[in-house]
Amino acid sequence: MHEQSATGPHHTTTTERGSFAVARCTCGWAGPARRSRDRARTDAADHIGATDDRDARAQGRP
Ligand SMILES: [Zn+2]
Repeated sequence: MHEQSATGPHHTTTTERGSFAVARCTCGWAGPARRSRDRARTDAADHIGATDDRDARAQGRP
């Protein structure tokens, strides 16, 4: 199953490796190996959401 959302330069996919799933993005980002594809997709959504928040994180937000 592939996400088809228009999120600018960030297009994420999930790749399965054996029993693990890894989220990857066209920007070069890759998430940790997850035992569930659903978790990998959550990582991907988190990554896309985090890109808007990058400045806030750089300022030391917990
Ligand atoms: Zn990205």
